[in-house]
Amino acid sequence: MPTGWVCAERYFWHDTGTAASSIPAGGMVEPSVHVENAAAKRRLRNLVEVSGLLDELVQLGPRAATEGEILRLHTRPYLEKIKALSAAEGGDAGEETRVGRGSYEIALLAAGGVITAVDAVLDGVVDNVYALVRPPGHHAEPDLGRGFCIFGNAAVAVLHARQARGLERVAVVDWDVHHGNGTQKAFWRDPSVLTISVHQDRSYPLDSGHVLEIGEGEGSGFNINVPLPAGSGVGAYVAAFERVVVPALRSFRPELILIASGLDANGIDPLARMMMTSTGYRKLTKMVMEVAADVCAGRLVLEHEGGYSTAYVPFCGLAILEELSGISTGVEDPFLPILEPMGGQELQPHQEAAIHAASSLVTVRQ
Ligand code: ZN
Repeated sequence: MPTGWVCAERYFWHDTGTAASSIPAGGMVEPSVHVENAAAKRRLRNLVEVSGLLDELVQLGPRAATEGEILRLHTRPYLEKIKALSAAEGGDAGEETRVGRGSYEIALLAAGGVITAVDAVLDGVVDNVYALVRPPGHHAEPDLGRGFCIFGNAAVAVLHARQARGLERVAVVDWDVHHGNGTQKAFWRDPSVLTISVHQDRSYPLDSGHVLEIGEGEGSGFNINVPLPAGSGVGAYVAAFERVVVPALRSFRPELILIASGLDANGIDPLARMMMTSTGYRKLTKMVMEVAADVCAGRLVLEHEGGYSTAYVPFCGLAILEELSGISTGVEDPFLPILEPMGGQELQPHQEAAIHAASSLVTVRQ
């Protein structure tokens, strides 16, 4: 069966305005483009088209999430706040989260895009799917926008799968370089949703993503964090998946796997200090596809999160889509000759120690 593709021009119209990286312009800070802008995602979409792969994918037009779907995760006052900011001149949804004019409707389309992707997989329209949505979602909390995220796209889609589609167990694996704090919080006490985040240790949010955060109450043991030291490369990521992510998924046996696919662990990303390559993302994609084939008939949804290197995100994303679809475009990653020979791509002892700490949790839970 084919691979699905969710995208919309409107995603690129979410306006985050000017800044210097994500620092507001003003005073001694000269205005430049905000780091969470459309360029990296648009260029990924364009490479998928120019490579010829887009023609081989099943185009799935996203629908807007309904208010009711958003309110499964977010509070009514928060939703109304976003709606009001969006209808006026924009503003901040909480912590470093720009809302531009019209961003409310675009954020509904982002959350709805992941719901569209989930439905397409559950209905057997496609085997697996990549939803290139924007704004991102994994930092958003019920009553607070954080880290460029307005609505929790992945969490809203998981709640749709659970409450509207009747799934009993869903897993979310977050390989964005930043901690998936919003998704963790959404299912903190919920044993029906296994949340796993592999991220750079104490990057963003600074105070979350520790290995000891395992959930509470009935949800205890159903949240796993793998905080990797800065500088981790393909060796560390592959080891984290082999020793933690894959065993946890096999133990949990979800009926659907969502990947929060931020591509900001790439080796030249401006918002992180990791060394991943397109080859690394291919390996991770292959591993989660194999688990999905074994435990949930291949049901796999990837939904886009961060990724701020306009130059490199397209090649990492194309590699993932080639693996998902089983189609090789012949496009070569021009950054591989630079990144692959760099020192430290192999698993390092201090990285192995961090992975071991998380792998112990999987063993205890089993
Ligand atoms: Zn990120």
